[in-house]
Parts: sequence; C-alpha cells; structure tokens
Amino acid sequence: ARRWPVLTVENLSAGYGPVRALDSVSLSAAPGEITAVLGANGAGKTTLLRTISGLVRPSGGRISLAGRDLTGVSTEDLPALGLAHVPEGRGVLAELTVEENLRLGALGARGRATADGLRRIYDLFPVLADRRNGLAHVLSGGERQMLVIGRALLSRPKVLLLDEPSLGLAPRIVAQIFDLLRALVRDDGLAVVLVEQNARSALSIADHGVVLNLGEVVVRRDAATLVADDDLRHAYLGF
Ligand code: ATP
Repeated sequence: ARRWPVLTVENLSAGYGPVRALDSVSLSAAPGEITAVLGANGAGKTTLLRTISGLVRPSGGRISLAGRDLTGVSTEDLPALGLAHVPEGRGVLAELTVEENLRLGALGARGRATADGLRRIYDLFPVLADRRNGLAHVLSGGERQMLVIGRALLSRPKVLLLDEPSLGLAPRIVAQIFDLLRALVRDDGLAVVLVEQNARSALSIADHGVVLNLGEVVVRRDAATLVADDDLRHAYLGF
C-alpha cells in the first residue's frame, strides 16, 4: 500500500523568461520511498528540484511539505522544515576538512551537528570516517558525493532532493552509493526524490518513476512496471 506522502507537488509550472521549463507537474514522495524523476537533457528535472527548493519561483501550482504550504517560504528556512536539497555538482568547501564540511550541514537546520548525528553519517559512509580530518579537496568523485549526501542528512531531513548523484561516476561507485541510499530510505523512513539521467540505475532502487519530457510528466508508473515495459523503456529511457 502506498504510504501517505510527506511532499506533494501539484500542477507546478515554472520558467525562465519566455522559456517554459515546467508545465503543470504533479508528484509526491512518501516516507521510506524513492521517487525517480527521469528524462532527457533539458526535460526540466533540475528546474523541478530548484522550484521545490524555492530557488526558482513557480508561475503556478502548489508545493506542500508535511501538510504545510511552501508558497512564500524562503530557501534558507527549508532545512528547519525538513527539506534537504543536494544539487548537481558535488560542491564542497575544498579547504575545509571532511568533518567541517559535514558540520555545515547542520547549520540552519534543526540543531547543531551532534556527536550522534556525525556517528550516524560515519556508520553509513565509513570512508568519510577514515578521512574525517583530511581536506575535502582530496576526495574522489564518489567520496565527494557521499560527503554532500552526508552533509544534507545532518539536517535530519524528512525529504531529500538529490540531483544527478551518479553523474560522471564509475558504475561500481554508483551501485555502492545507490545501495547505501536504498538502505537509508528503508531504515530511516526518508522520502527521496532522485533526479537521474541514468534511468536504469535509478529504477533499480526506486519505488516509483516519473518521466518528464519538455517540462511535462509523460509517464508515471511504479518502478518495477516501468522497467518491465519494453515500449516505455525504449521510448523514454533509452535502455
Ligand atoms: P539536465 O539534465 O541537462 O540538467 P534537466 O532535465 O535538469 O536537464 P533543466 O535544467 O531543468 O532540465 O532545464 C529545463 C529547460 O529550462 C531547458 O530548456 C533549459 O534550457 C532551460 N533552462 C534551465 N536553466 C535555465 C536558466 N538558468 N535560464 C534559462 N533557461 C534555463
């Protein structure tokens, strides 16, 4: 049975000047579930996450988090409300240590980085524990991705928005990070919206799949059904 959603997006539209990037998009994310948002380059995936996070102003529609309308709530206030966004690009403060970077994740959220909170991240990503006192700039791409996810988790979110975590990483590393994500969602009841061009990997851990094309939702299925449907897969997902 589908769980009650913690994040609900209804008929969301947004654009950049005359460019309409999102056209009446609806989706929801429930605790303990991963919703994969798929689609080609330029389909509107990043814009969707940026609009949910208040970085792009919607021209229409509604976003609610745990029953609260997010209209007019500013981006800085979202961590305290339980929403964390990991953008594309794995931005870390290169001249700070791994642990200093992690601690930043708790700022502005629901409290400080507690020893417990840090331990939880180090249990999840042991490689970060090994490198906790090293500078972030020596990390590999996969380790950096773990660091930005760990940093987001330190705010103890209810909803995690993840933009293209697999980009540029070796398949083995992607599999490792996605396995960790799956376990985290199962154990902690986190709701994840996972934006990916790597549809095959994303659907291997997702509960639901939503395909965007030119800013519109063109397919919405549970992940297993989407993977099993050769026509849909070939038409929209390229595998
Ligand atoms: P990608 O995987 O390349 O990030 P995407 O599915 O995330 O693609 P978006 O980045 O959301 O797609 O882009 C949706 C549309 O909005 C595209 O037509 C894109 O060219 C346009 N767009 C995105 N960002 C801007 C911007 N800052 N200014 C103007 N147009 C933009």
